[in-house]
Amino acid sequence: MKVKARAVIRVQSVAPNSLGAELGLLAGTELLAVDGRALEDFLDWEFLTAEDQFVLSARLPTGQEVEYDIARPEGLPMGVTLEPPRIRRCANHCDFCFVDGNPAAMRAPLYIRDDDYRLSFRYGNFATLTNLKPWDVERIVEYRLSPLYVSVHATEPTIRRWLLRNPEAPDIVPQLRAFAERGIRFHAQVVLVPGVNDGPELVRTLTDLYGLGPAILSVSVVPVALTEFSKRELVREPARAECRAALVTVDGFATRSLTERGVPWCFGADDLYLQAGQPLPPAEWYGDFEQRENGVGSVRYLQTRIAAARHRLPDLAGRRIGVVTGRAMGPLMPAVLEELTVATKARFETVVVDNTLYGPSVTTAGLLPGASIERALLGRTDLDLVLLPAEATNDDLVFIDDVSADELGARLPIPMHLSYDFADVLTECGTEVEGRSRHGARPVVPRFDFRVPRLEGQG
Ligand code: SF4
Repeated sequence: MKVKARAVIRVQSVAPNSLGAELGLLAGTELLAVDGRALEDFLDWEFLTAEDQFVLSARLPTGQEVEYDIARPEGLPMGVTLEPPRIRRCANHCDFCFVDGNPAAMRAPLYIRDDDYRLSFRYGNFATLTNLKPWDVERIVEYRLSPLYVSVHATEPTIRRWLLRNPEAPDIVPQLRAFAERGIRFHAQVVLVPGVNDGPELVRTLTDLYGLGPAILSVSVVPVALTEFSKRELVREPARAECRAALVTVDGFATRSLTERGVPWCFGADDLYLQAGQPLPPAEWYGDFEQRENGVGSVRYLQTRIAAARHRLPDLAGRRIGVVTGRAMGPLMPAVLEELTVATKARFETVVVDNTLYGPSVTTAGLLPGASIERALLGRTDLDLVLLPAEATNDDLVFIDDVSADELGARLPIPMHLSYDFADVLTECGTEVEGRSRHGARPVVPRFDFRVPRLEGQG
């Protein structure tokens, strides 16, 4: 049977000792259909091949079309990695879009504004749901793509359309309600834009979302972040008093939800507390840290990871270890490192790095360019080792300014390691730290399965 696929789904690689290898699938093979159903993307591939028995139609790199009648042996993985999907582009034009706040002449992918419910399901990227076609809606329900991460910003339709700069954006509350009635759950975020969706509008938004019941699993309130290149004539960052006022609203909803539902439900981002000059809630407040990659509870999560690894940390007495971070985390880092100091007896030093690419207003460690880090560490031969934020690199271990971790490691006068939580490197590399030459050391690739945080957009 010849099947016409709507999109080209191509094999990138096939793992040895897998079903894909047994079938003879090769890099470049086009996967056309499963059980006669044309494949649109990786979701179709994953969901439709989850069965024990199915018929796969494919076109080999030679052009030959093949049909495989598959009965999957128990425990044998498919082992097929697909070429990266075409990302759904965003139809909005938010004034605060971080992509538009990129300086010129960066890598092309950094200018892609994604708004893709598939990536929302898979990686926790936030999507606005403004570009859904009826076919997408049915697919979300059929595959139960839940929870999805949705940028709500405001529930009042006119204000939301203004924020998204999209007059076509559908009314989000009925949209979420319709999904909720069909079993889909959401984590929501509100990017707080002072003078637009704060104050009474924030109350309205949280009231509406709370009214949707358990379908809204959590809501985060995140202060808008701008770069030197953002449309600052149109949007500004919240002042300290505005952050404090937002936290009062957040706390009010969290208190109500704790009483009525047993969970805080509504969370301020770490940045909201930092900008308000208020202490972060304790780790227990964040439950399963479900929005940690959105900067919600990420500091407490880090402390939790360190505490969990404490008994595995080696004795590093006498070692001098630098920890690179952005300006936002600088004041909090000593408290984070305290437990590490006690456990390892090493001397830790926080190295706060300013962002020379985006400007000083961008203070998160995850957006630090390699060049900024290099500048801060040149001449630091007084350290034995430096730990860099792994989230500042992409899957290929390249920083946002196209400097690779390998290049940076070769230029620095001291060994460097990419690290997610410090304990990951120190527990596994304690002996290497001891014996390593100070020069020319290569970074160690961390073996953790954390998702790489999204750097594009804010919504
Ligand atoms: S902030 Fe998000 S929703 Fe807004 S334009 Fe950028 S990518 Fe699109």
